[in-house]
Amino acid sequence: MTYGFDTLAIHAGQEPEARTGSVVPPIYQTSTYAQDAVGAPREGYEYSRSGNPTRDALQECLRALEGGQRALTFASGLAAEDTLLRALCRPGDHVLIPDDAYGGTFRLFSKVAEKWGIDWTAAPLGDLDAVRAAFRPDHTRLIWAETPTNPLLGIADIAALATLAHEYDGMLVVDNTFASPYLQQPIAHGADVVVHSTTKYLGGHSDVVGGALIAAAAGIGEDLAFHQNAMGAVNGPFDAWLTLRGIRTLGVRMDRHCRNAERVVEYLAQHEAVAQVLYPGLESHPGHETAAKQMSAYGGMISFRAAGGPEQAVRICNSTKVFTLAESLGGVESLIEHPGQMTHLSAAGSPLEVPADLVRLSVGIESVDDLLADLEQALG
Ligand SMILES: *Cc1c(COP(=O)(O)O)cnc(C)c1O
Repeated sequence: MTYGFDTLAIHAGQEPEARTGSVVPPIYQTSTYAQDAVGAPREGYEYSRSGNPTRDALQECLRALEGGQRALTFASGLAAEDTLLRALCRPGDHVLIPDDAYGGTFRLFSKVAEKWGIDWTAAPLGDLDAVRAAFRPDHTRLIWAETPTNPLLGIADIAALATLAHEYDGMLVVDNTFASPYLQQPIAHGADVVVHSTTKYLGGHSDVVGGALIAAAAGIGEDLAFHQNAMGAVNGPFDAWLTLRGIRTLGVRMDRHCRNAERVVEYLAQHEAVAQVLYPGLESHPGHETAAKQMSAYGGMISFRAAGGPEQAVRICNSTKVFTLAESLGGVESLIEHPGQMTHLSAAGSPLEVPADLVRLSVGIESVDDLLADLEQALG
């Protein structure tokens, strides 16, 4: 029996608890477990860095939602990325990253991994010829894609990048944070590992930081599980429980995020204070056709460029009342930010610097008329 996405979100890894029938998986807030005899831990649980039933419930749910063989969860998205990088790469390896990668991912490669001998190139991953030109057949271990990207909403063709990476025995990693598995499942298109900041849409309520890796193949999954335990960047039981609580409503939340975002895009596109709207659902977006092929809808993230330049962009960010001025994204509440001075400040002066007139919106699930009225007064 195969279940639909929303059934899996509510039930995968979440059988009623055996002793009491508790419908919600308990928070196993423990560091260690009593053993029945030396060398005989109950159901394999011996220490919570190595295994915890609440974390296991979350991991199994994410595995099912992304259609992988194994899922591992971490203290943050970047902890997941660091674990993945060190599990898969060795000194001398080369990695291709998007030329508008999430700022924290760029910082991890340029300021941390590089010191350990891992080389990287930032390339426009939406342009396959450019990717092929930047690919070093003997050294490129990973293509590290984000689609849509943060904050420019660029789109990369997952199936085409997977084919290219595999041609040279490389692997394709996809950061699926912006789409969430509800809108896009990269493993079905050939990705080897999916990365998430579960802080965003999966958690969905801006109340917990976390990350996840989902492996398409059991062997890589096992390697990642070894590194999760050996490196120790696990999430705690309460954080795992909160994330799982968020995931149960992912489908209904995403439907509303997408619907509200479409209305906001429509509004911004006709406004004279807006020079350009970046949203993969727009037919004018260069990645629209690819997005339509691999996503079921276009998500709740929108960026736009202020016609009045950087000062106006900052003024808009400082003027909204329903949209909260804050970093992060993917929660039920709408957020606004200035990437150049906030989330992507660490990319300033690099090839990944973002335009200073850019404003990023995380469209929440509030009443859409209130969102439009708020933008109206802020843009006016
Ligand atoms: C937030 C984010 C991350 C990092 O995740 P944290 O949970 O903040 O460590 C990685 N990738 C993308 C696309 C993100 O938006």
